[in-house]
Amino acid sequence: MSDNPGAITGNGYSQEQLMALLNSTVDAIISIDDQHCMTLFNSGAEALFGFRSDETIGQPLDMLIPDRFRATHADHIHSFAASAKTARLMGERREIFGKRRSGEEFSAEASISKMNFDGTSRFVVVLRDITQRKAIEFALRESENRLKLAVEAGRIGLFEHQHETGDWYFSPIFREIWGLAAAEPATMATALALVPPEDRDALLASYREAYELGGSGRFTSEHRILRREAELRWVAVNALTLFDGEGAERRAIRTIGAVRDTTERRQREQDLETRIREHTEALRQEIKQRETAQAALVQAQRMDALGQLTGGIAHDSNNLLTVIAGNLEMIEDELPVGHAAGKYLREAQEAARMGASLNQRLLTFSRRRKLEPRVINLNDGVLAMAELLRRAMGETVTLTTVLKPDVWPTLVDPGEIENAVLNLAINARDAMPAGGEVRVETSNVTLSSDVAAGQFQLKDCDYVKLTVSDTGTGMPPDVVARAFEPFFTTKGPAKGTGLGLSTIYGFVKQSGGHVTIDSEVGKGTTVTVLLPRAIGQDGRRSGLADGLATAQAQGEIVLVVEDNAQVRRLTVERLRRLGYHPLEAESGPSALAILDLGNRIDLIFSDVVMPGGLSGYDLATLVRQRLPSQRMLLTSGYTFDNDGQDQKRHPDLRILRKPYSLADLAKTLREVLDA
Ligand code: ADP
Ligand code: MG
Repeated sequence: MSDNPGAITGNGYSQEQLMALLNSTVDAIISIDDQHCMTLFNSGAEALFGFRSDETIGQPLDMLIPDRFRATHADHIHSFAASAKTARLMGERREIFGKRRSGEEFSAEASISKMNFDGTSRFVVVLRDITQRKAIEFALRESENRLKLAVEAGRIGLFEHQHETGDWYFSPIFREIWGLAAAEPATMATALALVPPEDRDALLASYREAYELGGSGRFTSEHRILRREAELRWVAVNALTLFDGEGAERRAIRTIGAVRDTTERRQREQDLETRIREHTEALRQEIKQRETAQAALVQAQRMDALGQLTGGIAHDSNNLLTVIAGNLEMIEDELPVGHAAGKYLREAQEAARMGASLNQRLLTFSRRRKLEPRVINLNDGVLAMAELLRRAMGETVTLTTVLKPDVWPTLVDPGEIENAVLNLAINARDAMPAGGEVRVETSNVTLSSDVAAGQFQLKDCDYVKLTVSDTGTGMPPDVVARAFEPFFTTKGPAKGTGLGLSTIYGFVKQSGGHVTIDSEVGKGTTVTVLLPRAIGQDGRRSGLADGLATAQAQGEIVLVVEDNAQVRRLTVERLRRLGYHPLEAESGPSALAILDLGNRIDLIFSDVVMPGGLSGYDLATLVRQRLPSQRMLLTSGYTFDNDGQDQKRHPDLRILRKPYSLADLAKTLREVLDA
């Protein structure tokens, strides 16, 4: 441009007009000479930089450039000047930094052109402030970045569905979650192919429902994906559809969806659920166990009460029977051989024996029977009985024995166990009038201490198990509940005594075991007997010595201690007969008084149960304090009066069980005196 304002240029515009033209644009237009000094500065440039035109003309361009960019800018213009291109280069825009009068820097888009005016080259720089655009771009980039990071952090897979074209887009995370390779095309079909077939139709239907006419535009689902690695994952999908138009005209344009992998969350939920379920189950079990234990306790208490009653009756009637049998024996002694009353006598004696045997069974039930336990192998016992059992079962009932080898030894009265097996087998046979099968089985069991203590009131955990099961009629619950009671029978007067199971109950309990009935009407019955494992005991023989002839006395003095006058009289009479010199005391204290007189007493023969608080055992304790070597013999209708505690206190004390024969008395007295 010429320095001569007002001159008319070739296109008919005066220089002022041209300047006005340049000033009419908002862009900044600056021209520089080859020394980089400004020769033109339009009003756009004034507005942009804050300098007046007259402050800049003739000044170096550098004043408009931040210091740190000065060198680069100069280089740029130099290389531009050196380049072959002399044409205008509008359109080749660059971003540069400018400096306002205030010193503030700003971004500008610049295009530079090189021109030749009258042989001198000029550069024309057109600048546009892009600070705002840059700010918007920056904000946009920031927000895009933030979104991208959030999607990344949240492991959110994205998809987009263009309804018009049917095109789909799957983001990389979507593909990862869904298990799709990058090469697989993004289509509805590829996505659906990995949904288990049984879920596919419902999923598609609910997706469509969301964007079809009247749909909410919102789709949510949590479903399974069967990934190619045959791995089942859970995904949660949330999608939003954008529409165009209103009402019946509404069309779905695009649906954007977000997908998350919820497998782990579901797994955790499931684990929690499982734990809760297990816990609830354990609780239920515990409650059930407690209820069972409670019921068992009530039952045990009932049986104890019954035992007490039965035992009491048996004890008293034993005393009566002792008197009856003893007197009958003496009558027999005095009755001449061949006397007509002999047959009545024998019948009376037979009845007394039966009475005594009934008493024995009742005492067994009340756990007061004197047992003669030995360490035995249950299998041997059952095997020895097999033939007898088979015959007892009859034609139509088959007997099967399943005996586990190596059953533990157990300490029981072999006679009682034989009796128990026989009774159980006969009960089974009776329950199968049309025939069936009886199984006798043995095995070892170890109970958990909870079950042992709770359900069975047992101390130990190791037991030998004997079960006798049948395929018979079974029992209704009310019969099961009462089956162990003495005299409980459903078999009718002449047929059942109701003493089978009760005797077994008493014997097993007294042996430290337990017995239970499992039965259901029509399904048969299983009776289970648990007998404690014997540890560290050898085959201990009972103290019953056989084959001793009636031993006569040599005039020894025997003090009889017995509260029941009748029994005492009989005993005294019998002792006399055997050749002893009897003394009498009707209680423990009076026996001690006699003892304290200091006369020789060879043997004290005392009842165990006496009123007045001093039992035979207590008496023994007091006697031993005075005379440690005093010989004593006890007699009782019971065997144990307080669970064998007393017997433990005096293990050496012999007991003569009531009712006893004269021969028993003679033999036992001799044994004690000669020991
Ligand atoms: P009894 O056999 O003399 O009746 P138990 O004490 O042996 O006396 O049995 C009592 C009752 O228990 C029987 O009368 C019967 O009702 C029932 N019972 C016992 N064992 C069985 C069984 N194996 N099947 C069905 N009921 C039985
Ligand atoms: Mg029976």
